Amino acid sequence: MGQEQATPMDRQGHGWSRALRVLLQAVHSPEYLDAKARDFGAFTLWALLITAVFVLGMIPWDYAIDATRAWHVVWLRLMQCGALLFWAIASVRYVHGRAARIAALAAPLFIEATFMVVLERLDGGTSYGMGGFLYFFIFAPFLLLAQPLGLAALVLMAITVFPPLAAWFGLQTGLDWWIYAAYMGTGFVPVLAIRLLLEVMYWHVFRYRREVEHQALTDGLTRLPNRRQFLAAGMRSLDSHGESGQPASLLFIDIDRFKGINDTHGHRTGDAAICHVAEALRALCREEDLMARYGGEEFLVLLPRTGPAAAAEIAERLRSAVVAAPFPMPDARASPLGLTVSIGIASYDPHDLGDTTDIDRLIHAADRAVYVAKRGGRNRVVSVGEGLVPDDTSAQGRS
Ligand code: GH3
Ligand code: MG
Ligand code: MG
Repeated sequence: MGQEQATPMDRQGHGWSRALRVLLQAVHSPEYLDAKARDFGAFTLWALLITAVFVLGMIPWDYAIDATRAWHVVWLRLMQCGALLFWAIASVRYVHGRAARIAALAAPLFIEATFMVVLERLDGGTSYGMGGFLYFFIFAPFLLLAQPLGLAALVLMAITVFPPLAAWFGLQTGLDWWIYAAYMGTGFVPVLAIRLLLEVMYWHVFRYRREVEHQALTDGLTRLPNRRQFLAAGMRSLDSHGESGQPASLLFIDIDRFKGINDTHGHRTGDAAICHVAEALRALCREEDLMARYGGEEFLVLLPRTGPAAAAEIAERLRSAVVAAPFPMPDARASPLGLTVSIGIASYDPHDLGDTTDIDRLIHAADRAVYVAKRGGRNRVVSVGEGLVPDDTSAQGRS
């Protein structure tokens, strides 16, 4: 026999199972579950309260079925309502907390058990009782929406096998198994499908939102973090440096005479040159450095736990790297274009009482140092303070 070829169906099956595995993993990731907790925390509480009202609404229904004995099971209805309120209280702090997850499993089973007791005691019998429970079952996918898909499926399955298991252990009598099988057999698959559908819908929303957030924080040309992301992350970083008492430094990097490149070679070549410089700089940045495109041909690099002397060394390395990597022109016949950058350095010293953890001020100071570098002939590194009085207003308005 020769080697068996995989048919398109095999490949599709394999693809489907892989996609399913990936989806299952993704919908159980901490990031996804946290997003669900934020989005559905309040929803879950409301859904539980609405279901509690529904359960109380069973009291007049019991009365309509069996007026004489209905009053003897009111306390069971109140206990069902109590179980839902307990579930709500357990979910208030965090829907993925241990108490909330235990309640998500215990409360529905408790309600199911009490439904079975009610149906035993009323004249309406099994058919009425299981029918009523089926209504509750339809609420379950919404009550379990905030819970992980795996736990939700487990609870739905537990609800389905609970009555036969209870009977197996001799805990329940009088259930007509044909009626049970008819109700739960027809109910289980659609209820599980609704829960799955809700998960898939939220998964799409989650992915779309993550993509939009990513785009809002990323520069479209260089794929580097943009100014907005830099300001937010930089502020957090400076705050933590303030707490730990360690210095941080900021590099403001500006490509020299860039306008000339646009004017001579066109904007598309200019764009490619910006990407080229971004890549040369990024290649030298450490994982913990925060690099961003600040504006047109300007980049920022925040160097954590780095004082002025070390920052000057790093800046010098970046400057040399740009010089050492001329930009290969899109037209292969043209010779590579030599590029240079001017770099301004400003440092944050938590021990200097005058220093604030204001990232804007640090950027402004480094920008003024760039101005000095430009004035000094470009292609150089200048630290704040070198050839600059602290509030050199002539630096304002540099384009
Ligand atoms: P200097 O050495 O003083 O920095 O001179 P410069 O020409 O680089 O400085 P200036 O700020 O005057 O010019 C920056 C230019 O960058 C102006 C603008 O046309 C260009 N620019 C800004 N953003 C982009 C962009 O996204 N793509 C391209 N191709 N050019 C851009
Ligand atoms: Mg500029
Ligand atoms: Mg420039």
